[in-house]
Amino acid sequence: MKDVDKNFFKDMLIDRKKQIQKNISETELEKISMASNDLNDEADFASADIDNIIDDAIISQQGKELLEIDQALAKIETEEYGVCEMCEEQIGYSRLKVKPFAKYCITCRSIVEKSEKAKN
Ligand SMILES: [Zn+2]
Repeated sequence: MKDVDKNFFKDMLIDRKKQIQKNISETELEKISMASNDLNDEADFASADIDNIIDDAIISQQGKELLEIDQALAKIETEEYGVCEMCEEQIGYSRLKVKPFAKYCITCRSIVEKSEKAKN
């Protein structure tokens, strides 16, 4: 991959990382402010619980993405970036532009997704 392309994806990954970190801290702040609110009746408790579950799901999903972004950033440094982890072919630029931290090419991704579905 050319340096100019690597820098392009690196910038994209860093921007995405910042966005996610912001999302996570906003969600956590929301949780803290909610926890310090006085909850007066059962309904408040119930809806606060649901919000917490949703917030935790958002945080864990975003945390997972953050990890994938860090892995992709590390790969940029080691020249492995943009190479499919399964078949070692180059991942298409059009795919990387949509998902800059993609680990697999489209073909392998669909194989992985199928086997993940089979497990569930
Ligand atoms: Zn592949």
